[in-house]
Amino acid sequence: MKLFLMALSLAPSYTDAAYAYTMRHEEAECGSQSSNLGAFSTPALCAAEAGSSGCTSFMFSSEYNVWGCRCCADPDGGNQHALWDVYNVVDCSATEAVCVLPGDQLIAAVLVAQDFCKDPDPLSNAKKYESAALELNDVVAAVDAYLESDDDGYFASALANATTLAAAVLATQSGGGYCSAAATACNKGAVLQQQVRSLLALSDGNATRAFADSEARALLFDRHGVMVGDALWLDAESVAATHAFFDLLPPHLMSDGILAEAPFATMTIRDAFRCSGEAESISLTATARAFNIFQSQVGSWTENAFGGTRFPLYGDGAMTVIKHETAHQFDRVVRYGADAVLEGMFGAYIAAASDDEDWLRSSVGNIYFQRAPQEIIASQVGNQFLLSSSNQLALALDRLATSTSALPLAWFLFHLEIFSRR
Ligand SMILES: [Zn+2]
Repeated sequence: MKLFLMALSLAPSYTDAAYAYTMRHEEAECGSQSSNLGAFSTPALCAAEAGSSGCTSFMFSSEYNVWGCRCCADPDGGNQHALWDVYNVVDCSATEAVCVLPGDQLIAAVLVAQDFCKDPDPLSNAKKYESAALELNDVVAAVDAYLESDDDGYFASALANATTLAAAVLATQSGGGYCSAAATACNKGAVLQQQVRSLLALSDGNATRAFADSEARALLFDRHGVMVGDALWLDAESVAATHAFFDLLPPHLMSDGILAEAPFATMTIRDAFRCSGEAESISLTATARAFNIFQSQVGSWTENAFGGTRFPLYGDGAMTVIKHETAHQFDRVVRYGADAVLEGMFGAYIAAASDDEDWLRSSVGNIYFQRAPQEIIASQVGNQFLLSSSNQLALALDRLATSTSALPLAWFLFHLEIFSRR
C-alpha cells in the first residue's frame, strides 16, 4: 500500500514506507536540478513521488504545478524565484520522522476553521488560520489521488467526517451554522474559508453547502461549474452579470475549455485576499482549472475594446477582464493539438500577419501578438468578439473593402468557427 503522508508537528507517526516534506528554501530554485517527475497538484504528492524515486529534496511551484515536480541534485545555493520553493523529502520510516495521514490533517485543519468561527479576536490568531488554510489546500487539491490509493477506506471516511464538520463553518446561523467571526484577508479567515468551500464543492458536487452564505454564487456554481473565489467581495450586480455571461457560452467551450479535466473551475480575485498590500501566497484553487480577474465591480469603469480602429466601442471594464480571462481558456479547444483545423487556421493567420491592421485588436498590434500568441484569442475574442461580434464584423469588412487587409475577416470567421465547432 502506498501512503501519502505529510510532515507536521502533529502525532501520530507512521512507519510504513512513505514520504512527507518540509520546507527548505522559500521562493528559490534548486542549486542544480536532476529529474522532472511530472506534474502533481500539491507538494505532498510530489514528495511521495520524489521519495520513492530516491530523491532527498525537490522544487515545486504551488502556483504553477504544471512546471513539474523536480528533484534537486543540489538543493542549496539556487536562484531566488518567487514561484518556486525547495523542499526536503521526509522518509516517514526513519525513527525521528513525524508524519501525519492526509485524512487526519484534513480533520485537524477543518477543526481550526471551526475555532475561527468562535474566536472573539481572530486577527491575533491569523498565523494559525493561515497554516490551517495551507494544510487544507494541501489535502483538498489532492483528494482524487488520496481516494485512489485509499485501500483501507480511511481517507474516504475522514473526508466524509471533514465535510460534515466543514459545512457548519459556512452555514448561516438560521441554517444551523454558528460562525460569529467575520472572515477577512488579514485575519486569514477568507483564505481558510475559501479552502472549506473547495472541500465542500468537491465532495458534494454542488454548492448548496459550499455557498450556503451566498445564493447567487451557489447558483453560478451549480449552473456552470464556476466557483467564485473572491472572499465574497463582488457585489450582487457583478455576480449576476458574470452568471449572465456564462449563460451565453456554448457547451463545448465550457466542457473542453473552462472546465477541461476538472470538476469545476475557480474564478479568483487574488487581490481581494491581500492584507495591507501583501499578496496571499496560499492557492485559492483546488482543481486543474482556474483564472484570476481584477478586483473591480461591474459598472465601475469602461474601456474602448476597439482602440486604434474606426469602430470605437466601449465595454464594461470588469466584464472585459472576465471575458478576456475566460477566452484564455478557449486556447485549450484550438491549440496544443486540440483541433487540427482550428489550429491550422490560427497558425496560418499569425504567419500571414505583418502589420497592426492585420489584427482586429490593432491597438495591441502585430509585434505583441507575434511574441505572445497566447494573448490572441483572449484579446480578439475576449475583449472584442464577446463584447460585440457585429462591431468586429463591421471592422473586418471595412478593412477588406478598403483593401487594407483581408486577415481581419479571416480572424472573424475563425472566431465563428471556435464558437460553432462540434
Ligand atoms: Zn491575457
